[in-house]
Amino acid sequence: MSDATWHSAGIDRVILTEEQIREKTEELAKLVAADYADAESLLLVGVLKGAVMFMADFARVLGRYGPPVELEFMAVSSYVQGTTSSGVVRILKDLDREIAGRDVLVIEDIVDSGLTLSWLLKYLKTRSAASVDVVALMRKPAAIKVQVPVKYVGFDLPNDFVVGYGLDYRERYREMPFVGVLKPSAYNTP
Ligand code: 5GP
Repeated sequence: MSDATWHSAGIDRVILTEEQIREKTEELAKLVAADYADAESLLLVGVLKGAVMFMADFARVLGRYGPPVELEFMAVSSYVQGTTSSGVVRILKDLDREIAGRDVLVIEDIVDSGLTLSWLLKYLKTRSAASVDVVALMRKPAAIKVQVPVKYVGFDLPNDFVVGYGLDYRERYREMPFVGVLKPSAYNTP
C-alpha cells in the first residue's frame, strides 16, 4: 500500500518516514555495538506488541555490528486510570529463561509516562541481570520529566498520539512502515 493510500485510510500526517526510522535504527545499533564491543552476548527484551517492528529491525542491524544477540519477549498489561497508565503492571507473558548474569537491553517502541518501563526495569533487576539498559525509538515530552534511565533515544516527539511501526489504535495501524498521526475522523470509525 502506498503512503497516499494510508493517508486516505485515516492518517493525517507522517511524523517519521520509513527512511528516517531506518537511518536512526542503524545509528542506534552502531552506538550499542560500540558500547557492548566486549560483551559475550546481548539479550534483547521486547515488550509485546508495540516493540515488535523496532525489535526485529534493530536486532538485524545490531547483528551486523555487535555481539551475538538473543531475543526475549514479555507481555504486560498496565492498569489504566483515566487515560494514563497507573504504573501497576500485570505480567501476561514472562521471560522464557533466566537472565541472571546477562547483559540485558530493553527495546521500547515509545516511552510516554515511563511508568511501564520503570516497573519493568525494577522487575529485571530482581531477576539479577548483570546490566540493564534501554533503547527507545521514540520518547514523548512527559518521559523527559520522570526519572527513567533511557540510555539510547531515537526521536523526541511532540505530545501527539501516534500510530504505525508497531503502535496501534484499537489494534490497527501496527503494520504501517512509518509513524503518523491519525485524522480526528479515524477515532470515530468502528
Ligand atoms: P508509559 O507507561 O510510558 O506511559 O506507556 C508506554 C506505552 O504506552 C508504550 O509502550 C505504548 O504501548 C503506549 N503508548 C504511549 N504513547 C503512545 C502513542 O502515542 N501511541 C500509541 N499507539 N501507543 C502509545
